[in-house]
Amino acid sequence: MAKSAKTGQRVADEFDPSGSEALPVVSARNVLSAPVLVLNLNYVPVNICTARRAIVLVGKGKAELLDKHSGEVHTVTAVFDIPSIIRLVYLVKRPYAPRKMSNKEIFLRDHYTCQYCQIKTQELTLDHVIPRRQHGPNTWENVVAACPKCNLYKAGRTPAEANMKLMREPKAPQPNPYRMLQNYVILEQWIPYVPWMIAG
Ligand SMILES: [Zn+2]
Repeated sequence: MAKSAKTGQRVADEFDPSGSEALPVVSARNVLSAPVLVLNLNYVPVNICTARRAIVLVGKGKAELLDKHSGEVHTVTAVFDIPSIIRLVYLVKRPYAPRKMSNKEIFLRDHYTCQYCQIKTQELTLDHVIPRRQHGPNTWENVVAACPKCNLYKAGRTPAEANMKLMREPKAPQPNPYRMLQNYVILEQWIPYVPWMIAG
């Protein structure tokens, strides 16, 4: 039982201090809800599932085990490793949700930098490159971060009319497949598969 001592200990603390001989059945419930990083065939994260779900996927041959939590799950008839990372054996096509345009997303895309004078600041405004009054659309390609000074100076003019130059042509950011992980605690063993891309 040495291998499962760690898990056994945690379970024992919670359920039965004297019952560290074998993992009691009740412990399985706890361990089986451990988070598992699910990778696509191409190693891009797809989602997070529970260890229970991961064991089923591996058992059915739909995924392979890449890394495991310490410990094992003992059932009446079998012993399972507790997955930490699995990889699907087929490619899941995932249309990543396009980013919704918002002030914050524009500022992130533009790295909190005024796209005219290149000053880096938290005090930013949104500037329509082709002004609204000239029917400039409210799109990723026509909205940039601008400091209040530049925005005020540019006013209702195009950059050409105001003799101002954009740092770069504004574009919609690439969908970020790692975004779905933002609300999760990232386990240490997942990090090699999760190059963090906040600013996309
Ligand atoms: Zn500026």
